[in-house]
Amino acid sequence: MSRSAHPAGPRYADVLPEGGHSAAPADLNRLDTRIWPGGAARDARSGAVTFAGVDIRELAREFGTPVYLIDEDDWRRRARAWVEAFGTEADVFYAGKSFLSVAIAKWAAEEGLHLDVCTGGELAVALRAGFPAARLGFHGNNKSVAELERAVAAGVGRIIVDSHDEIERLAAIAAERGVRQRVMVRVTAGVEAHTHEFIATAHEDQKFGFSLAGGAAAEAVARILKHADHLELTGLHSHIGSQIFDTAGFEVAAHRLIEALAVIRRDHGVELPELDLGGGLGIAYTEADDPAPVAETARRLKEIVARECDAAGLAHPRLSVEPGRAIAGPPGVTLYEVGTVKPLPGLRTYISVDGGMSDNVRTALYDAEYTVRLANRESGAEPMLSRVVGKHCESGDIVVRDAWLPADTVPGDLLVVAATGAYCRSMASNYNHVLKPPVVAVRDGAARVIVRRETEDDLLSLDLG
Ligand SMILES: *Cc1c(COP(=O)(O)O)cnc(C)c1O
Repeated sequence: MSRSAHPAGPRYADVLPEGGHSAAPADLNRLDTRIWPGGAARDARSGAVTFAGVDIRELAREFGTPVYLIDEDDWRRRARAWVEAFGTEADVFYAGKSFLSVAIAKWAAEEGLHLDVCTGGELAVALRAGFPAARLGFHGNNKSVAELERAVAAGVGRIIVDSHDEIERLAAIAAERGVRQRVMVRVTAGVEAHTHEFIATAHEDQKFGFSLAGGAAAEAVARILKHADHLELTGLHSHIGSQIFDTAGFEVAAHRLIEALAVIRRDHGVELPELDLGGGLGIAYTEADDPAPVAETARRLKEIVARECDAAGLAHPRLSVEPGRAIAGPPGVTLYEVGTVKPLPGLRTYISVDGGMSDNVRTALYDAEYTVRLANRESGAEPMLSRVVGKHCESGDIVVRDAWLPADTVPGDLLVVAATGAYCRSMASNYNHVLKPPVVAVRDGAARVIVRRETEDDLLSLDLG
């Protein structure tokens, strides 16, 4: 069966490659710098992978497997690159849903990022970290009254409203507290961006946002402006998709958003000062992915907005963007131990590791593709077409669907999967009562647990018998 990877699911991928798998790479030991974090390398003597200066076998011994490892310097470097690329006239909101912990929120604050949360739980983590509330954005299509109250009380810098119900709720909460809450309106611009193409006339049959074309966005704006005592409308927001590799989709979205800003000025006499183009910039999971450098993306997005605003005769709004994966994905890897090796003659070899869909659901959910390498040693053996699978009672429990691994891979070997820093720990489950792995940050040869491994006691503490 042919397959194509898209984070939004196979139904979005209309170009399915034939054959089902790529050719074997020339060098099974190589760590492609476009895919692996800056701190990942092979030790010249042992052939084992070193991670931010630590032998990965050491990390396996000390913290057990499976384990999520984050190259802290790489994470911070990417965060800084985004902040610097967009400069002082724009704000970069890290999408916390990609992966958030107290340590991560602190790194984000230190590196000058703003932070997006979309539930009370994510907000709680940000507040626990002491993240400056004024630099928080709060998303979600169904924020509860309690979540909104907490966000307003905490002084969250902006709330991205997503329904007429929410506008009324939020206005009432702000009125009761005697404050004026800054809000943006999330719109669906009718653009849907995919890995390698976008649709400018995407269906609007989805739960997020107010339709621009259908007039719902205009009504939301009018309602917010009526509540001007308690809601301060700062701008429009759009998020067009995920794992996007060029700016064409953003260009169409920006055009429509800026058109809407011009209509708002005509109808209400106000020029909204902010514009958010969302997240979605892609990363390299395999050699087939080729993301543009962030400096280039930033330059293009700023250019697009400037050009569209000039054409509409509008002052340039303050731009914001919301990368998640592009910051958190590449610095993270997952380290597993091989438990069983099962050759299926004429088909492939199934290599079972000690985790699976509970620590990385993206392969099962989105047909995502990953790159995997033997980590505890080098090998000169022939490439073997493999499938790396987990330990769950489910045949869809696949970590890497089509993997080339050395033919001498045996139980006890360590495998490392690249680019798992986003949407893996944050989407982890306890399926089969498997315990969630820890997250270990490694920097300058030193490792630190930032989220500890779950224990059976953790699991059973919720079970009241
Ligand atoms: C998911 C999401 C993001 C982040 O998407 P990435 O693909 O991780 O960059 C940004 N903004 C909004 C509103 C989102 O829902």
